[in-house]
Amino acid sequence: MEYYSGQIGKLIEELSRLPGIGTKTAARLAFHIIGMPAEQVHKLAETMVDARDNLKYCKECYNLTDMEICPICGNPKRNHKTIMVVETPRDLAAYEKTKQYDGVYHVLHGVIAPLLNIGPNDIKLKELMERLRGDVDEVIIATNASHEGEATAMLISKYVKPAGIKVSRIASGVPVGSELECIDEITLKRALEGRVNM
Ligand code: ZN
Repeated sequence: MEYYSGQIGKLIEELSRLPGIGTKTAARLAFHIIGMPAEQVHKLAETMVDARDNLKYCKECYNLTDMEICPICGNPKRNHKTIMVVETPRDLAAYEKTKQYDGVYHVLHGVIAPLLNIGPNDIKLKELMERLRGDVDEVIIATNASHEGEATAMLISKYVKPAGIKVSRIASGVPVGSELECIDEITLKRALEGRVNM
């Protein structure tokens, strides 16, 4: 990076830390940014800082929100007795886009992955169990079809079943190894409709 001046070299280095951005793309972005009007660059930087500083987890479902309770949990028209368990806020957004689900969610923020030292206490599992003490009819497990996603689904099912709550898993129309958020809306809708009891 010696052939770039200090400032631009630093910018390229920071940008190349982002997922999917190699040094070449980072350089292209960096030169684009320094060519932008100053006020636009300020706005971009401020928006990033604001998003990072002001976003927090919903106290109910742990989705990202800038309020205490997210708009989904705060909506009295949603069915609060059905909870869909997802891995990330992006998975939640994928299901919301289908407009086929009227229940509420629970975001785990990960899955159990023993090889990476991620255990039940590292995801929002305890928080899910807390919620199940309330009035809940069904838990729909919509973790990804990866090994970790399946193992996490099995564990949740094991915990939830004794409480007498119905547990279902989204249908395997979702291809193994693919990430939920990349799947089209029709496939997600079918996966939800075809869910099976665990
Ligand atoms: Zn919420």
